[in-house]
Amino acid sequence: MRLEGGGCVSTHAHMIYLDNHSTTICDYRVAEVIYSTLTETYGNSSSTVHEIGDCANLAVKVATKKIARVIQASSQEIVFTSGATESITLGIKGTIRNLQNADIKPHIAIASSEHKAVLDTCQALKAQDKIKLTILSADSQAHLDLSTLEKICASDIHLLCIMAANNEVGTIYPVEKIAAIAQKHNVPFLCDATQAVGKIPIRFHDWGITMLALSAHKLYGPKGVGALVVRKGHQLEPIMYGGGQQKGLRPGTLNVPGIVGLGEACRLRQLEMVEDERAIALKRDNLQTLLLQGIPGLVINGDINNRLAGNLLISIPDVPNSAVIARVRHKLAISTGSACTSGVEEPSHVLTAMGLAENVIEGSLRLGLGKFTTDEEVATAAEILISEIKSIRELL
Ligand code: PLP
Repeated sequence: MRLEGGGCVSTHAHMIYLDNHSTTICDYRVAEVIYSTLTETYGNSSSTVHEIGDCANLAVKVATKKIARVIQASSQEIVFTSGATESITLGIKGTIRNLQNADIKPHIAIASSEHKAVLDTCQALKAQDKIKLTILSADSQAHLDLSTLEKICASDIHLLCIMAANNEVGTIYPVEKIAAIAQKHNVPFLCDATQAVGKIPIRFHDWGITMLALSAHKLYGPKGVGALVVRKGHQLEPIMYGGGQQKGLRPGTLNVPGIVGLGEACRLRQLEMVEDERAIALKRDNLQTLLLQGIPGLVINGDINNRLAGNLLISIPDVPNSAVIARVRHKLAISTGSACTSGVEEPSHVLTAMGLAENVIEGSLRLGLGKFTTDEEVATAAEILISEIKSIRELL
C-alpha cells in the first residue's frame, strides 16, 4: 500500500471486499455523473442570479426528485446533510430544541441496538441533563418487543428513534408497524434507514414516518453526503446557522456533486434493487453454507429469516476475531462489527445487547456482500477463512 496523489494506490486490487455495511464501492455510473457535475455544473446552487448557478440549482432539483422517489417521500421534505450521523443529530437535537423552547424536558426512547450516532447523541444529551432517556432492550436476534414499545409510546415520550435495519446483524425492523404505533400515540418517529434505503422497500409517506436518515455511501454513492427527510409540519430547530440555505434548517453551500451522486445512486437502486438484492442473498447463502461446512462450531448470528441480503455475521467461539483479521486483512476486507467503532477495543454493543456469550462476541466477524461481489470471490473468501481458522485452531 502507498499514497500517491490523492489516493491510496494499493496492492488491494486483488483483495476481496466484504465490508459493504461499512461502506459500498461507488458505482462507476454514479462516479461518472459526479465527475461531470464537478467539472461542468460547478456553480453554487444558491447563486441563481446567473445561469451557471441556475444549472447547479436544476441539478439539485432533479437529484432531489430521484431521492424522494426511492423512499416515496416528496422533494420538499428532503434536507441535505453530510451523511447519516449529521441527519440523526439534526433529527434528535432539532426536535428537542424545539421542545426545550417550550420549557419541556424531552423524553426520548431508542433501542439498545441503534447505531452509535443515535446512542451517543442521546447519551450525551442525557449526561447534560437535557433529556430523559429510555432504552428498549433487544432479544437474541436484535428484535424489539412491540408491546413494550407501544407501552413506552403511550407514556410521556416526545421522540422515538428506531433503525430500519441493523448495521451489524442485519436484522430488519418492522418499520411500518413501529410507525403506526408511534402515530397512534402522536409520538414523532425518527427512523435511521442508513442500511435500508435502496436495499429494502421504504414508504416514508404511506407508513407515516416523521423523519428518516439516509447516507449515499451505503447505497453505492459517494461519501460525505446524506439527507434527513422531514415530514411536512414536524417542527425542527436548526443546529447550525449561516447562509440560510435549505430554509435555514441546514445552512451551508450545497454539495452539488455529492447530491447529484446521491440522486443517481437512488435512481439506480430503484431500478435494480429487487434483482440485485435477490442475487446478493443467493451469494450470501452460498458463503454461509460453505463456511458452515468448513468450520466446525461456526455460529450464525441474528435472524436468518429476516436480515439484509448482504449480511452474514458469523462467530467462531473461542477463536478471537482479532487473530482472524490479522491473518486475512491483506486478502479480505471484513470487519469485527460496526466499522464506525472499529479501532475502539470494546465488544460490539449490539451483540452485547443481544445477550450473546462473551466467546461468541469475541469470535464474531461481519461479512458484508454487495452488488459487486462475485461468485468467485465468495468461493475464495470461504477458502481463505476456512484455512486460516483451521491454522489458528491448531495453534490454540
Ligand atoms: N446509522 C447506521 C445504521 C449506520 O450503519 C451508519 C454507518 O455505519 C450510520 C448511521 C452513520 O452513517 P454516516 O457514515 O453516513 O455518518
